[in-house]
Amino acid sequence: MDAEQLRENAHKMVDFIADYYKNLEDFPVLSQVKPGYLSELLPDSAPRQPESLQDILDDVQQKIIPGVTHWQSPNYFAYYPSNSSIAGFLGEMLSAGFNIVGFSWITSPAATELVVVVLDWVAKMLKLPNQFLSSGLGGGVIQGTASEAVLVALLAARDKILRRVGKEYLNKLIVYASDQAHSALQKACQIAGIYSENFRLLKAEQSSNYELVPEVLSEAISIDFSSGLIPFFLCATVGTTSSAAVDPLCALGKIAKASDMWFHVDAAYAGSACICPEFRHHLDGVEEADSFGMNAHKWLLTNFDCSLLWVKDRNALIQSLSTNPEFLKNKASQENAVVDFKDWQIPLGRRFRSLKLWMVLRMYGQENLQNYIRNHINLAKQFEQLVKSDSRFEVMAPRTFSLVCFRLVPPPNHQDNGYKLNYSLMDAINTSGKIFLSHTVLSGKFVLRLAVGAPLTEEKHVEAAWKVLQNHATTLLGNI
Ligand code: PLP
Repeated sequence: MDAEQLRENAHKMVDFIADYYKNLEDFPVLSQVKPGYLSELLPDSAPRQPESLQDILDDVQQKIIPGVTHWQSPNYFAYYPSNSSIAGFLGEMLSAGFNIVGFSWITSPAATELVVVVLDWVAKMLKLPNQFLSSGLGGGVIQGTASEAVLVALLAARDKILRRVGKEYLNKLIVYASDQAHSALQKACQIAGIYSENFRLLKAEQSSNYELVPEVLSEAISIDFSSGLIPFFLCATVGTTSSAAVDPLCALGKIAKASDMWFHVDAAYAGSACICPEFRHHLDGVEEADSFGMNAHKWLLTNFDCSLLWVKDRNALIQSLSTNPEFLKNKASQENAVVDFKDWQIPLGRRFRSLKLWMVLRMYGQENLQNYIRNHINLAKQFEQLVKSDSRFEVMAPRTFSLVCFRLVPPPNHQDNGYKLNYSLMDAINTSGKIFLSHTVLSGKFVLRLAVGAPLTEEKHVEAAWKVLQNHATTLLGNI
């Protein structure tokens, strides 16, 4: 790596990216390409001789960008957001510059110690119980995704109970969550060897706002105990993926504790909102949790990937995930003087992800981050009002954070309860390229989801999105 060449090329790349952001609104939000488009545009083998950066950037412009869905567009409202910011971007750049692989403390002490510092900072911003701080028996770690976070928590919990009851009882272990929990939990169960018939997705009804009802959990647990099974893991969600429902942590956590179960709280999306004092109450009951996860890369201005996981008992993780091969032995680790994050995660290698989170926290500060979240929630409130003001539409679940679930009310006697109508509405809108939103199914009904959370979204974008929706609805209803 020649420093001067890096300087010259990186300046060009930054210019390219800055221009991309400048022109972001000109692109269709959802990529409009057909499957396989790229192999028709690119040669079928790698070049034998070097090519210029300019030629490559030209190809990015002409061939790659058409195949990009623009998550950073202010008109992006699908799934949940994946924030980018100047601080997050610079942190990623710095991380790429150092390009360390921080599996053990010795491989880059700063990479390990910065995780410890910033995860303690964020734990304090969220007012997590002190047991999650590094000063006690617990601590925080950056994982790639919430899926990895729940998997490692599940592995720690599984091994903890198996140490007590004996490995031969794996087939008796039972996992609980509401049917609104993210599919990441199902995948974690598959990987962890939990028997598929032992994975209980308890019904969260519309009448309880899609929250898991504590009595439903208690009943399931007592049936399982009386059948000789071993309830051992409960996953509650703060901000479910379909409708941003918040499971009642206090009551659920007490039940989990009474049954000696591991209690994991998945706040992948909504955790960020809880840095605001007025939304912190959604985490009440997290005191009961053994592990807690949230994605800074969703809604806290930190570029993907940066998923934060805290545990109260770090040894539980380490007992499940540590290995100690000769080629990794070193004095600091042998003396137990340091944290080796390789023992808190699935892979060995770790990127220097704490840099970008540290830069976000420092360059924006807690107050700006709180206002950033509040602004999105206010925009979602405004959108919800717009939906309510048009009798052709209905809101389908309570809005708690920045997600609005709604649909076009099907005309009386309309076939399939409005499924096709709303699917067609979503499809037409997304194909227009003007905005991008996604869907879910709640109580058997097709529901549109509009999640405010892209960093560049302003009131005018939300108003324009509503106009797009209204216009397409008028056309669709006119054609029925
Ligand atoms: N949990 C919840 C509540 C989510 O909303 C999501 C994704 O949207 C996930 C987990 C999975 O996130 P990841 O892609 O970080 O694994």
